[in-house]
Amino acid sequence: MKIDDKVLEKLKNAKTAFALTGAGSSEPSGIPTFRGDEGFWKDKTPFTIEAFNENPQKVWEWHLEIKELISKKLPNPSHFALAKMQSFFKIFAVVTQNIDNLHQKAGSNKVIELHGNIYRNKCNNCGKIFGEINSKKMPECDKCGGFIRPDVVWFGEPLPYKALIKARAYAESSEVCFVIGTSGVVQPAASLPLIAKENGALVIEINREKTVLSDYLDCSIFGDASTILPDIYERLL
Ligand code: NAD
Repeated sequence: MKIDDKVLEKLKNAKTAFALTGAGSSEPSGIPTFRGDEGFWKDKTPFTIEAFNENPQKVWEWHLEIKELISKKLPNPSHFALAKMQSFFKIFAVVTQNIDNLHQKAGSNKVIELHGNIYRNKCNNCGKIFGEINSKKMPECDKCGGFIRPDVVWFGEPLPYKALIKARAYAESSEVCFVIGTSGVVQPAASLPLIAKENGALVIEINREKTVLSDYLDCSIFGDASTILPDIYERLL
């Protein structure tokens, strides 16, 4: 499915935009989505602090496996199209729920990570931040001796405050919001397109299928983000 000419015209006139991306934008790179059929995530849940407290070593090993899969994957044309949009719009940001670092690898320079980054770690006790750690054995903090965990947001945990505030500011001030490859059921990220809409933005969804958000937005383009986004970018020029 292609973008409608009338919507395209409005897009061409906009100066400010942001994209909210979810697991579907990295699916064409070969990273399974959370709610897809693949068993990859299912045998590793639950992603909760309770699971970590019960067996930190096991949860650490799950994340090593996830990082191993992700580290072999490359950005796909949807990531590159978003990176190029930086030069089309005066202000453009990517607000992502993904933890895979692929937007940054594709060249996006304003990426707001709502759910953290699998390559970063933090002390579960004092919050000290660490870079990538590949040890099989769960490491301990050199400052306080606490357990080190991946710096990603697990179910039931609050989102990083600064990232959420920045994302909200884009939702409140942008003329365009793209909603790409997200099922729209993980809050508070899923409310950002609605905040954008409420503030007058043109909200365009790109997804393989209808979502719980679709009926509230200006238009939905159904199909693969890795073909639709490059097409939109080409037609913007
Ligand atoms: P989700 O798994 O709930 O939904 C993915 C959505 O993408 C679905 O609506 C699906 O129809 C759509 N989709 C799948 N392939 C697509 C494609 N090629 N083009 C367009 N749309 C496509 O993902 P979510 O809403 O992002 O929520 C799951 C949470 O799990 C995320 O918040 C994230 O933290 C985590 N997660 C991250 C990654 C990653 O970093 N790549 C992968 C899986 C899960």
